[in-house]
Amino acid sequence: MSTLARMDAQALAALHRDLTRDYEALKGRKLSLDMTRGKPAPEQLDLASGMLALPGNRDHLTQSGEDARNYGGLQGLAEVRALFAPVLGAPAAQIVVGNNSSLAMMHDFLVYALLRGVPGGSKPWSKEEEIAILCPVPGYDRHFALAESFGIKLVPVPLTGDGPNMDEVERLVADTKVKAIWCVPQYSNPSGETYSSETVERLARMKTGAGDFRILWDNAYALHHLGDERPHLRNILDACSEAGNPDRPIIFASTSKVTLAGAGLAFLAGSPTNVRWYLDSAGKRTIGPDKLNQLRHVRFLKDLKGIHDHMEKHRSLIAPKFAAVEAAFESRLAPYGFANWTKPDGGYFIILDVMEGTANRVVALAKAAGLALTPAGSTHPYGKDPLDKTLRIAPTYPSLAEVKQAADAVTLCALLAACEKRLASEG
Ligand code: PMP
Repeated sequence: MSTLARMDAQALAALHRDLTRDYEALKGRKLSLDMTRGKPAPEQLDLASGMLALPGNRDHLTQSGEDARNYGGLQGLAEVRALFAPVLGAPAAQIVVGNNSSLAMMHDFLVYALLRGVPGGSKPWSKEEEIAILCPVPGYDRHFALAESFGIKLVPVPLTGDGPNMDEVERLVADTKVKAIWCVPQYSNPSGETYSSETVERLARMKTGAGDFRILWDNAYALHHLGDERPHLRNILDACSEAGNPDRPIIFASTSKVTLAGAGLAFLAGSPTNVRWYLDSAGKRTIGPDKLNQLRHVRFLKDLKGIHDHMEKHRSLIAPKFAAVEAAFESRLAPYGFANWTKPDGGYFIILDVMEGTANRVVALAKAAGLALTPAGSTHPYGKDPLDKTLRIAPTYPSLAEVKQAADAVTLCALLAACEKRLASEG
């Protein structure tokens, strides 16, 4: 078999005939598969089903004797903060435990910044004429949508495999309009990459035009290993403190993909100044979070070993799904030489780069064959991938058998779209 680029017109036409026949057969199977979102599978949620009976009747007293059923406890229970301190890389005193969604805490951070301004700033962000946020690409669509919904300009910066291109970032942050950068520093969504120590150091040290610049450090996949490697992620709080910029980072994380996606715990961490600032606004918004859920988490996970043991069970359920996708891409796409894909050591996603100019066509072909994929472009600000080539594959939710079917279907659609494109360019 020769690569697609080397095929002559006759070979291309023959391949196109075969692929079209296979595609019609695929449609005839009337599949109904969904690979759109990085959701845990029901079996993963079952791993935490023991939690539903916790903390249990009459178990409502915290370590310090507070009644978890009552109002209060804005910052979160001390035992929960202590349990997650090593995961967040922050002292317990500098952690806030929220309710079930870290995205909600990111939202609140932005709202408070826009309405009240952040420490180190001279006015609320909304009083600036225009503000911008750097968006490493490919990135998380909900980060982009959240900032865009508040009128914040999205500025793409390419990821390199070691985090964002820091020459670009350093150049862009000199502009006073640039107030923040989104970062998913470990097993990034969706590229799977982990920021190198050098990237973290440069983010911590860089000179920013805005005195109140913030790194929004969304470490959503801190615990989500797929292989045996454990990446070293330089501690962002330490790096920024050492660089004399202690208030620069705001860390976010949650147990959405540890315990229950709809009923986990969310966290925010940062410098003492940032935490005080956040709690000051949060205290106007709520009298306190759901502390029974916090107790439930402590009772269930127990200690750091309990957390890691639990994550191992997730890994044994989802690693085979990632392997199945990679195997399908390797056997069915590699020989044609036009596609690239990631082989992540953790996280929830695989990126498939198809032939330039065909990602939208691949998604449309897949849809017509009963396979829902994340819309092409969703990995880029404003939903626009200038090269129309990046697809985000989310293998966790469907069953292993479905993942195999879906991966085969994706490869067929990617091949057919590439073949069509080559034929069109042959004229
Ligand atoms: N951040 C990233 C990078 C994510 O991938 C996700 C979930 N897909 C979230 C945040 C959402 O987190 P939560 O459930 O805590 O709101």
